[in-house]
Amino acid sequence: QGLRELLLGHIRDVPDYPKPGVVFKDIAPLLADAPAFAALTDAFAELCEHYAVDKVMGLEARGFILGAPVAVRAGRGFVPVRKAGKLPGETLSQAYDLEYGSAEIEIQADALAAGDRVLVIDDVLATGGTAEASLELIRRAGAEVAGVAVLMELGFLAGRQRLERSLAGAPLHALITV
Ligand code: IMP
Repeated sequence: QGLRELLLGHIRDVPDYPKPGVVFKDIAPLLADAPAFAALTDAFAELCEHYAVDKVMGLEARGFILGAPVAVRAGRGFVPVRKAGKLPGETLSQAYDLEYGSAEIEIQADALAAGDRVLVIDDVLATGGTAEASLELIRRAGAEVAGVAVLMELGFLAGRQRLERSLAGAPLHALITV
């Protein structure tokens, strides 16, 4: 069984969540399955070697769950990107547009050193707004984008296209694309 099939077999479609017409990709069954979670962690950890990553950055909240074990497995530090207002001390924040309204994410101002190569990890790439804002934070901190790695890319929402400019040639790695 290939990695893609193993992972896909543990992701559940939840219709009409969080609102009518949306099919939510629920990764809870994958997290609950030790071999599948380990295989996912290993696949992301390999990217840390391949792209000479210094820091693993996880996007709140499922990016924390996926990213932290990757950081430990790969022997890299972990940097949490949080929704605005949750981090103590000096922060860098970045606003981005949602379908209705806007959101804001933050890192601590000293979370990244100049020149750090950073891999962004999240569960699902949808419109790409969250990932795009995180890449902006990396650049503003004087660090370098090593890439973005997601478990699942929702191709029909064109997040990849939205990210093209801020990736500036860095890879977007999706283990599954639907
Ligand atoms: P984007 O900013 O539109 O790309 O949305 C991505 C963010 O929303 C990520 O942090 C995901 O965790 C979350 N997200 C969007 N759609 C889904 C889904 O179907 N399942 C799980 N998370 C989702």
